[in-house]
Amino acid sequence: MRAAGRVVHRVLTELGRLVRAGVTTAELETRANEIIREAGGTALFKGVENPQARFPFPACICASVNEQVVHGIPNERPLVEGDIVSIDCGVRLKGYCGDAARTFAVGQVSPEVQRLLDVTRTALEIAERETRPGRRWGQVAKLMQKCVEGSNFGVVREFVGHGIGQEMHEEPKIPNYYDRSQRNADFELRPGMALAIEPMVTAGRSEVKLGDDTGWSVVTKDGSWAAHFENVVAVTADGVDVLTDGS
Ligand code: MG
Ligand code: MG
Repeated sequence: MRAAGRVVHRVLTELGRLVRAGVTTAELETRANEIIREAGGTALFKGVENPQARFPFPACICASVNEQVVHGIPNERPLVEGDIVSIDCGVRLKGYCGDAARTFAVGQVSPEVQRLLDVTRTALEIAERETRPGRRWGQVAKLMQKCVEGSNFGVVREFVGHGIGQEMHEEPKIPNYYDRSQRNADFELRPGMALAIEPMVTAGRSEVKLGDDTGWSVVTKDGSWAAHFENVVAVTADGVDVLTDGS
């Protein structure tokens, strides 16, 4: 899984260098595809079915711009100075999966948008620091939620993290918030678990909806911008090992 995670990390690092005004997300997709192919991996997102969507997902990255939260399809619209773009990438290598996401600023963004990116990354870092055996996931999720809502941002409920291994999406679900509705699904963290932790944070209200008639792109209901950071971690004897940080 670390080998798969390294390929994902390489894609995100390289695309992060390419992101600038005038570049299209279709160009980012082309480069991601090359990197995954050169590494001998397969793209996990391409061909994924979704009952709400009109066609299987057509790309190996999701590229979600501004008010798009997740599942944006790469397209020919050039990025504009001040935009943000969330890139999510999943790769299978030798039977095991990696999955990670980063939100990149296109040139200079407003201070409030920069704060959105910082808080979302911090929520993921809190989860990486606080995940350890003997705790319940809900305790960690509560800390992430406190970080986000304490910054006056919203935590997306409709999409959550997931277990990961030989398949991209395995049990259990890994929500980024905790309330009583989660009590029955909550679980104890144990060494050897592999979790994709992925806070999705909105600058306004947390509700989301489908963004267009493809049935793929998910946007905020109120049009506020959103950020998304994701890593896969393996739970160890005393904490976690991050598998998608390039180490
Ligand atoms: Mg992902
Ligand atoms: Mg994921």
